[in-house]
Amino acid sequence: MAYDFVVVGAGSNSLTTACYLAKAGLSVLVLELEREEQCGGGVVSVQPDPRFIHDGHAMGYLMLLANPALKDNELELETRFGLEFAYTPAPFASPHPNGAGLISYTDFDRAVKEIARISERDARAYTQLVEEANELLPLLSRGFFMPPMPHEGFMRLLNDSAKGRKIRVELEGNVIDFLNARFESPHVKVHMAKWA
Ligand SMILES: Cc1cc2nc3c(=O)[nH]c(=O)nc-3n(C[C@H](O)[C@H](O)[C@H](O)COP(=O)(O)OP(=O)(O)OC[C@H]3O[C@@H](n4cnc5c(N)ncnc54)[C@H](O)[C@@H]3O)c2cc1C
Repeated sequence: MAYDFVVVGAGSNSLTTACYLAKAGLSVLVLELEREEQCGGGVVSVQPDPRFIHDGHAMGYLMLLANPALKDNELELETRFGLEFAYTPAPFASPHPNGAGLISYTDFDRAVKEIARISERDARAYTQLVEEANELLPLLSRGFFMPPMPHEGFMRLLNDSAKGRKIRVELEGNVIDFLNARFESPHVKVHMAKWA
């Protein structure tokens, strides 16, 4: 049998691509490695121990919720195919041997309190970082779902304002400098480095 497209691998990206191709009326064959029991690649849940169901890779679906596939129900994942999101109040933790581990909570006040246990200053720095990120969020979420701008054009756009120039310095800098400039506690820096 002939197909318009053969998609190799059945992770989230290839399945999404295959769905859009099929939705456009094209015939699609998806091939998955035999060793995998279930489609979905890194976004499938795994059970390493009978007590826990855990995410294989992805545990914080932040930008996905702004994706038109879900937001505009383009692939009917929830309404037709029964997709359900199970949100956890604490998606991420960094354990430390001396007990100074940190947990990321989705509840903002709780997340700030958790950091303040280790450093009041870092809790304020985190609050400021979140405020800055919230300002950028509309721009970022629009940018994620359109063809990327040429790099130079994007950088020129950032140069047009003081805020943009600050972002440019941080984008072009390295993670260690970014964390050192904002946070004091090594535990908080290690925890935040994950997101970088
Ligand atoms: C540790 C970790 C944490 C992450 N955390 C997040 C997060 O919090 N939020 C988030 O949004 N994203 C997260 N990601 C990223 C997310 O998991 C990936 O972006 C996503 O899984 C990529 O999807 P994909 O379809 O490109 O590849 P994959 O999900 O890797 O799927 C590829 C599939 O192709 C199969 N395959 C490979 N080669 C062949 C072959 N030759 N023939 C047949 N099949 C093949 C593989 O078995 C696999 O099933 C994380 C990733 C990692 C590694």
